[in-house]
Amino acid sequence: MIRVENLHKSFQSLNVLKGINLSVAKGEIVSIIGPSGSGKSTLLRCLNHLEVADKGSISFEGQYIAKEDSTGKAVYKSNKEVLSICSNIGMVFQNFNLFPHKSVLRNIIEAPVMVKGKSKAEAEKTAEDLLTKVGLLDKKNAYPGQLSGGQKQRVAIARALAMEPDIMLFDEPTSALDPELIGEVLQVIKKLAEERMTMIIVTHEMNFAREISDRIVFMDDGQIVVDGVPDDIFVNPEHPRIRTFLNKVL
Ligand code: ADP
Ligand code: MG
Repeated sequence: MIRVENLHKSFQSLNVLKGINLSVAKGEIVSIIGPSGSGKSTLLRCLNHLEVADKGSISFEGQYIAKEDSTGKAVYKSNKEVLSICSNIGMVFQNFNLFPHKSVLRNIIEAPVMVKGKSKAEAEKTAEDLLTKVGLLDKKNAYPGQLSGGQKQRVAIARALAMEPDIMLFDEPTSALDPELIGEVLQVIKKLAEERMTMIIVTHEMNFAREISDRIVFMDDGQIVVDGVPDDIFVNPEHPRIRTFLNKVL
């Protein structure tokens, strides 16, 4: 579903991604773990074009978003084509990013109506179904400021799902939450996993990652150090950098 080859990204002189290769198949659930600053968010943001990569290729369902030219430079398709492809990629951020002045329902119907051209009635019906799924139908007329962090994040997930994405990217979806609110968000993600939604999840919730992931990718210093099944990471990790990391977070 997504294939990344030799991806490089720098911010001025800072090389943040140093040749990333990653493929995720339809229905696969991949968690990305690794120290802060290792480039996890930048990688996700390159996948859905919130950042522009310098070198390498990115393709989605066999269509190139960016392809390397003979010098390795990432050459992107037209903005219109990239936006159209990326509208199939849902993203959930650490800090929810809800529109504060719009009700929960308006937050969810905004993109389906404005971007996908759905009718308001149809978008509202879908939004209500999704709010039921995340357990928040009774909050449909509330504003983000009236919700707990866990509720905001569940709305953010419903909002991403409203675009009927083929893949969902989660960037530390529970990192901004009080501990007692983490479970309700993980529960929703687990439900999506059971439905075999294709997902890439950056997380520090190691037990959760271990439980739901088909594969775990360990990133350090802009590179993928290990890409394997959970046991490769959690049972006798061979790589010393993984052991150091796990000793800190577990
Ligand atoms: P992670 O998500 O693994 O913590 P990030 O991808 O957020 O890592 O960041 C990797 C590195 O890139 C960090 O050193 C960070 O400060 C830097 N960085 C990220 N975004 C930007 C940006 N927009 N401009 C400059 N530096 C950035
Ligand atoms: Mg990050």
